[in-house]
Amino acid sequence: MAKFALCVTCRRCRRPFDSGLRMDERSFRRGTLAANYHTCPHCGARETYAKADYTLREAPAGRSGPACA
Ligand SMILES: [Zn+2]
Repeated sequence: MAKFALCVTCRRCRRPFDSGLRMDERSFRRGTLAANYHTCPHCGARETYAKADYTLREAPAGRSGPACA
């Protein structure tokens, strides 16, 4: 099953970034993902993000690195 990158939009600068989390769609739907800390690579803000804040982006196979910007 395809893995997805979980992207969030920074609360401070409103720019999207890669949370670094990877999972398939089923795991995402079943998971709770309550309150994870992520640091924005653009402005350095460290904030908590919940499941509703994530956007799934298809992570290209065989390629690591940011999938959200
Ligand atoms: Zn930011």
